[in-house]
Amino acid sequence: MSETVLEGIGLSKHFFVGSPFSGGKRRVRAVESVDIAIRRGETVGLVGESGCGKSTIGRLLLRLLDPTEGRIRLLNEDVTGVSGAALRQLRQHMQIVFQDPFASLNPRHRVGDILSAPFRIHGTAPPSEISFRVADLMGRVGLDPAARHKFPHEFSGGQRQRIGIARALALEPDVIVCDEPVSALDVSVQAQIVNLLRDLTEQTGIALLFISHDLAVVENICDRVAVMYLGRIVEFADRDQLFDAPYHPYTKALLQAVPRPDPNQRNRDYSRLEGEVPSPINPPAGCAFHTRCPVAMGRCKAERPLLSDRGESRMVACHLN
Ligand code: SF4
Repeated sequence: MSETVLEGIGLSKHFFVGSPFSGGKRRVRAVESVDIAIRRGETVGLVGESGCGKSTIGRLLLRLLDPTEGRIRLLNEDVTGVSGAALRQLRQHMQIVFQDPFASLNPRHRVGDILSAPFRIHGTAPPSEISFRVADLMGRVGLDPAARHKFPHEFSGGQRQRIGIARALALEPDVIVCDEPVSALDVSVQAQIVNLLRDLTEQTGIALLFISHDLAVVENICDRVAVMYLGRIVEFADRDQLFDAPYHPYTKALLQAVPRPDPNQRNRDYSRLEGEVPSPINPPAGCAFHTRCPVAMGRCKAERPLLSDRGESRMVACHLN
C-alpha cells in the first residue's frame, strides 16, 4: 500500500452563528469526528449534498481553517499547530484548485505573472529560470506558453481552470485539494479537465482530494470515495465497490439521482432522495439520516451508528447488517 500523504484524524469543525441580540450564538457542527487519509498517487473523492461539510474538510486538511478538535498529519508529521513561516513552508506540499477559476485568478495580472508568483514567493527557482518554468507549466496543462502575456479574462473557462491547475502544480506539491474543480464548466470541458488531472496524478504521483457533488465525475476519476452526510462520513469504499454495490441508504439514494446514458450499465433500483438536509445547528438525534431514510428502524432515531469496518476496505455507518 502506498504511503499516506495527508491525514485527518478525528477532525471536527464548529462555527458559531447569530448574536446576543438574535437569541444568542448557536453552534453549527459543520464537520464531526472525520477520519480521512489520502495516499500517494491516489485520488479520493469526497461527495455529498451542498452544505454537508466536504469543503470544510478540504480547508481543514490544508490548514486554511483550524479544527475545533482533531489532528492533521502531512507526510507522517503532525502539522495541526504549525503557524507563521512554518505554515508557509507547508504550503509547498499542499495546494488547492478552486471551483471558480475566474474568481481565484487576479484579473489585473498577466498569466505569466500569476504562474511565476509561487516561484518568487517561495524562492524555489532562480530568477533566470522562472520564465522557463512558467512555459513548462503551461505546456504540461495544455496551454500555449505564448499566451503568458494575456490576462485571465482572455481565456475560456476551461483554460482558466488549466491556469489554476498549473499554479497548484508550480511548487511540485505532494497533495492537491480540488474543490468542485469542474462544476462551473461545460460538460465537454469537464471531461478535458478530469482527463488532465488523471494524467497529472499518473505522471507525478500527486495525491488528490476531489471534492464534488457530481457522482458521475467522481466515478470517472477517483480510486476511493467517501460519502458525507451532515458533517460525517457515512460510507468510505473503493470506487467500484461503492458504485457497483453501495451499502448505506444515503449512498444508494445519491446514486439513484445520477443520470445514466446506458440503463443496463448499472442496475439500480434504489429509493429516491426526498426532503431537505436537516440543519447542522440542530442535527437529528440518532442517525442523522433517519428523517429521510426509507428503511429507518426505531433504533435509528435513538442511537447514532458508528462508522465500522464491513470488510474489503469498506467503512459504513448504518444499523443495517
Ligand atoms: Fe437508515 Fe437507520 Fe441506516 Fe440511518 S442507521 S441509514 S436511518 S437504516
